Amino acid sequence: MEIKLATTAGFCFGVKRAVNLALKAAEDYADRRIYTLGPIIHNPQVVENLKQKGIQPLDSPRNIESGIIIIRSHGVTRQELTLLQNNPAITVIDATCPFVKRAQEIVARMKEEKYQIIIVGEEHHPEVTGLISYGDPADTLAISGPEEIPADMVKPGKSSRKIVLLAQTTQSYENFSRVVERLLPRKGETRCFNTICNATSDRQQESLAIAAESDCMIIIGGYSSANTTRLHQLCQSIQPRSYHVEIPDHLREEWFTGVQTVGVTAGASTPKWLIDEVITTIGKLSE
Ligand code: SF4
Repeated sequence: MEIKLATTAGFCFGVKRAVNLALKAAEDYADRRIYTLGPIIHNPQVVENLKQKGIQPLDSPRNIESGIIIIRSHGVTRQELTLLQNNPAITVIDATCPFVKRAQEIVARMKEEKYQIIIVGEEHHPEVTGLISYGDPADTLAISGPEEIPADMVKPGKSSRKIVLLAQTTQSYENFSRVVERLLPRKGETRCFNTICNATSDRQQESLAIAAESDCMIIIGGYSSANTTRLHQLCQSIQPRSYHVEIPDHLREEWFTGVQTVGVTAGASTPKWLIDEVITTIGKLSE
C-alpha cells in the first residue's frame, strides 16, 4: 500500500511559533510558575508534553496571582489580556499568531470607524470570542454562514448602515465567499477583509488533491481542533473513506481493506512525531 503524506501536514507557522515560545519560557524561567490561558494549541498530546515541562493550562486569568503566562496562538479576549498585562506580578508572553493579531486589529479599527462588524466563524471558538471582544458588543456579530445573516440586513432596497466582514482564520474560502455574495446586493457600504490564513487554505487544497487520488484518507489532529475537523469534512466530501484520528490507537484495520493508496494529512496543531507514529501504525496495519 502506498502512503501519500501531505507536505503541509502538521504545525503551521503560528503554532510552531507558540510552541517554541513556550519551550523557551520553560528554559528561561525554570524557577517560576508558567501557565497558558486555556490549552496553548488544540492538541492534547502537545499540551500533555508541555505539562511535563512545568507549563500548566489555566481556565481563567483570575486563577493566576503571579508567574509567567503564555497567550495561545489563537489569542484571548482584549479584557483578559488587559487584566494580565496590568498585573505587575505577571509576565505576559504573547504567542498570539500575527495573522490572528491582524484580524483583532481590523476589528478594533472598524469599531472606531463605526462599522457593524460581521465575523464569519464559529461563535464559541476562542479565536472568534477574542475577535468579538475587540468590537462593540452591540455591533459585532459572529455567523457560521449565509443562512445566519440577519434578515433585515439583506432586505432588497433597504438602505442600511455600513458593515464590514472578516473571517475566522481557519474558515473555508467557499463559506466566506457565500456570505460576501449574499451581502453584496444590499444598499449601503459593504467592506470585506480576507483574514483567512494561507496555511489553512494551502493545507485544504493539498489535502483535497490527495484525497481525490487516494482510496482512503487519514486526517490526524485533536478532536477539539477546528481546522482538523474542517479538513476531515472537506476530505469526506470527495472521499467518503476519510477518517479523523487523534492518536495511532484510533486507527482501525478494516479501514485499509482493499486500499491501494492511503492519503495522510494533519491539522495545524499536530506535531510531527505524532504524524510519524500514525504513519508507522498504518504501515503495520496494512501488512
Ligand atoms: S492556522 Fe494560520 S492563523 Fe492559525 S495559528 Fe496557524 S498560521 Fe496562525
